[in-house]
Amino acid sequence: MLMGQEERSDPSVIKEQSKLLFSSAYSAVLANIGTALIFYLLIIDSGISGYAGYWFVIFLGIAISRMAVTLRFNDEISAADLQRSLKLYFVTILLLSTAWGFAYVMQYQLGNDDVRNFTLLIYLGLVAASISTMSAWLPSMLAFVFPQLTMMVVILILEGEIVSYYTALAVLVYSMLMLVLAKNLNRNLIDSLELKSVNLNLIDNLNEEVEQRAQAQRELEKHQADLEKVVEERTQELVGINENLQREIDERQQVEQNLRFAEHYDQLTELPNRVLLLDRIKHAISSSAREEWMVAVLFLGIDRFKKINDSLGHAVGDKLLQQVASRLELLLREGDTVARNSGDEFVVVLERIDRANAAELVARKVIASLNDMFNIDDHDIHVGVSIGIAVFPFDGDGPQQLLESADTAMHRAKQKGGNNSQFYAEGMSKEIRDRLDMESRLRFAVDLNELFMVYQPQVDSITGETVGFEALIRWENPDLGLVRPDQFIPLLEENGMINSVGEWIIKDVVRFIQSGGAQDCRVSINLSARQCSQAGLGDFIHRVVNEYAIDPSKLEFELTESMLIDDFKSSTALITQLQDMGCTIALDDFGTGYTSMGYLAQLNIDVIKIDRSFITGIDSDDNLRKIVYAIIGMSQSLEIENVIEGVETAEELATVQALGGRVIQGYLYSKPLRRGAELEDWFSR
Ligand code: C2E
Ligand code: CA
Ligand code: CA
Repeated sequence: MLMGQEERSDPSVIKEQSKLLFSSAYSAVLANIGTALIFYLLIIDSGISGYAGYWFVIFLGIAISRMAVTLRFNDEISAADLQRSLKLYFVTILLLSTAWGFAYVMQYQLGNDDVRNFTLLIYLGLVAASISTMSAWLPSMLAFVFPQLTMMVVILILEGEIVSYYTALAVLVYSMLMLVLAKNLNRNLIDSLELKSVNLNLIDNLNEEVEQRAQAQRELEKHQADLEKVVEERTQELVGINENLQREIDERQQVEQNLRFAEHYDQLTELPNRVLLLDRIKHAISSSAREEWMVAVLFLGIDRFKKINDSLGHAVGDKLLQQVASRLELLLREGDTVARNSGDEFVVVLERIDRANAAELVARKVIASLNDMFNIDDHDIHVGVSIGIAVFPFDGDGPQQLLESADTAMHRAKQKGGNNSQFYAEGMSKEIRDRLDMESRLRFAVDLNELFMVYQPQVDSITGETVGFEALIRWENPDLGLVRPDQFIPLLEENGMINSVGEWIIKDVVRFIQSGGAQDCRVSINLSARQCSQAGLGDFIHRVVNEYAIDPSKLEFELTESMLIDDFKSSTALITQLQDMGCTIALDDFGTGYTSMGYLAQLNIDVIKIDRSFITGIDSDDNLRKIVYAIIGMSQSLEIENVIEGVETAEELATVQALGGRVIQGYLYSKPLRRGAELEDWFSR
């Protein structure tokens, strides 16, 4: 409003200007009062002293009012109040300037040159000084300068002298200069104040922005934290729900499992119960039958269990049954089943066994294991067990029947005093036990050097020369004595040992040939059926023959007719391989099998051995003579050598010779001979 300054400056700049303006007011007022006092004192003794007194009082009043106006100012002053203060201030300055103007009028009336010069000096000084105190706000400067200036110039012109005109002009120019100076100062001041304000605003804005951003960031973080919390809570909830669900499922499964368990398992021992047992036997039968295995059902009755139960109490009885159960479980293979039938009866099912004696072996282990002392609640308890064994397919074709058979056998075991095992088929027991015994001894026979070979000479009955030997195995056991090969060769075949024992035989015979034990004679080795189907047998023989560097034509192998029929393909392959190597092949026990003439023609056999059953008593049996005559004739026409087995008497020999037989292997000449003395003795004769 005042000179339009408000319009272009912001309120804070005006405030700053006012502050500068008002703060300089004190010194300015004091300087004015001081100067006015000097002026008053200067003119007090003159003729105008009456006016002077009033003037000074009015002057003082104005000066003090000016001071009072500035007191209204403070930093918190409102824009409206400030405007009012500035207006008042403007008025007081205007009045002050007018007061000074009257001072010049007064001195004019006085007409004293010195005083006039002094007032001129005052004017110049006041205007100069006002620059520093009033340039902050130009209206105040104008208010201070113009009234006095006008009155000063008017008075100088009124004087009417050239000098005073010039003086007026000078005062005018001086005043204008001062105003321009003040204006410039004011401009700079406002600029810097504005700049300061702008900077402050900027800083304010900046701070504000920083604060806003910080606020925004804080809010964002808070939101995020809230969100995370919500997610976390929800997750927690879900986990809880899941856990509950899992627990429920587990519980349900547990219940189902318990139900199933109760249906199929015995609570006390946790073994399969009779229901599951019958099922297991059924399965065992169907899977074993398919591959021609056997299934053994062992029915176990704890001897004198009732007595233990009655004397030591049910609790002890129960614990005993539990311990029996765990011993049985420890004893058996994975595929086998141990079940509790009822009371003190347990059942063991052995699946996929190839020999019934495997059941007896297990029965022995069970007896041994249960015979060990039990310790229950500080009681040492000794129990025996009676075991009945039933074997599928011999003793029943269904679970129920097998169990009954085994049960019957168990009762027989009890009748025999307990703590033993019985097969359902009584005869089986002895035979199987013997075989089992022999078989377990046989396992160590090779290592214990209980096996050895004997050699039975084959003699040309016309020249008396030894043309060959048949190697025959012997087993001499300290307990069993001399065991016949007919007894243990089938065992070896059954349990598969024939392969390793067969290789041992071949090596032993080859070494015998190499050592010259047979002199220059051919030695024949018997091959069993299972051996012939052993992969790599031909290669093995080849290796051994090479290793000992013997003449392969000194080695003969005897095969039986039934072997040819069982596995014609692999037998032929073996025969060819051996003959290619240079060995000869003899067909053993000729005439007892089903050999067709076709085989003989196809197979290119070197030797046939006419079985002893055709020779024994041949001298008094026309039929035998006719058969042997035919065989000899056939072999001659096929150009196959023949060896007559089992000639025991001179009569038999004479008959055989008359039929064209020549090479004889029989007791008449010699029994199979041991290496060493017996053979040396043979050769020396
Ligand atoms: P085999 O191959 O027919 O052997 C001939 C059997 O007749 C031998 O019985 C022999 O001692 C017997 N023998 C020979 N001359 C007479 C005689 O004049 N009168 C009577 N009564 N017997 C006579 P051995 O040694 O007891 O062998 C029996 C069977 O065992 C053999 O019959 C053969 O099948 C088998 N065997 C023997 N040694 C071996 C062997 O090393 N390997 C194989 N795989 N089987 C063998
Ligand atoms: Ca033989
Ligand atoms: Ca024979």
